[in-house]
Amino acid sequence: IAKTQNLGVFAYDPSVDAHSPAKLALLGDLRRALSSGQLVLHYQPKVNLTSGEIVGAEALIRWEHPVKGLISPDAFIPLAEHTGLIGPLTSHVLDSALAQARIWIDAGAPLTVSVNLSARSLLDDGLPQQVAESLAKHRVPAELLELEITESALMAEPVQAQRLLAMLALMGIRLSIDDFGAGYTSLGQLKNLPITEIKIDKSFILNMGLEPSDALIAHSIIDLGHNLGMTVLAEGVETAEALNHLTTFDCDSAQGFYLCRPVSAAAFDEWRDAYRT
Ligand code: C2E
Ligand code: CA
Ligand code: CA
Ligand code: CA
Repeated sequence: IAKTQNLGVFAYDPSVDAHSPAKLALLGDLRRALSSGQLVLHYQPKVNLTSGEIVGAEALIRWEHPVKGLISPDAFIPLAEHTGLIGPLTSHVLDSALAQARIWIDAGAPLTVSVNLSARSLLDDGLPQQVAESLAKHRVPAELLELEITESALMAEPVQAQRLLAMLALMGIRLSIDDFGAGYTSLGQLKNLPITEIKIDKSFILNMGLEPSDALIAHSIIDLGHNLGMTVLAEGVETAEALNHLTTFDCDSAQGFYLCRPVSAAAFDEWRDAYRT
């Protein structure tokens, strides 16, 4: 009990009342979805701004609900986090993403895949072992896996997070801080984490052309990341204008609707083929 009190991000959230009849029904559906292949991954490219090369693909989960259609992760990840289903869900995502990484290796076009970790996963001591097993199962080198951890999750459990990230980094896995700038990272802490990439939160990128202060913040984060020896990616790039700003600011890479929306693996491959030629 003492422990849960420290976890700001897990504090009771009335919008995630897992006991309401609607939520209970959804939870039952979600359990079945997990075992019946309705939870699928879409992929969105990460593009290097200097070379134009595709440097990776972020796996984003979607629920293909037989009645309700495509459900976005924001509608069920919080529920999974509050009910213990996040563990099996994360295993499923990791396994599917690494299976896809293997397909790309076999096709002669290896690509780093990025998997989102929930805040809860940082408290799971079994995670490094589970990641190692999944990498071995699919014969994917650790360097082709990147784990994205949100800034707020890191700061909620800094000691535990630092231990876990150290283990994952030792294994050769790349680590990215997601939603950077939206939270409250202590800069002192940042320098002690074995992070390879910072992802600037899209809230600063979406209106960069209209909001000089957003552009200023993005520029500052890029410089900060570089000074700490990290690469910096901007998410939420929706316009050519934003892309130009970021190039001027020396941002390393970008992700966003302007480049490509998250799409099925098949559509991703088509997009990649067209992009290369
Ligand atoms: P995130 O990790 O910050 O992912 C970025 C979100 O921004 C994605 O929403 C993506 O579709 C969206 N996005 C990408 N480009 C643009 C753009 O140019 N403009 C705008 N407005 N949005 C853009 P999505 O796929 O709905 O995912 C929402 C959140 O759900 C993710 O935020 C992540 O926190 C969580 N999530 C997704 N997949 C997983 C997963 O497999 N496991 C866990 N634990 N969380 C996941
Ligand atoms: Ca992410
Ligand atoms: Ca993000
Ligand atoms: Ca987010």
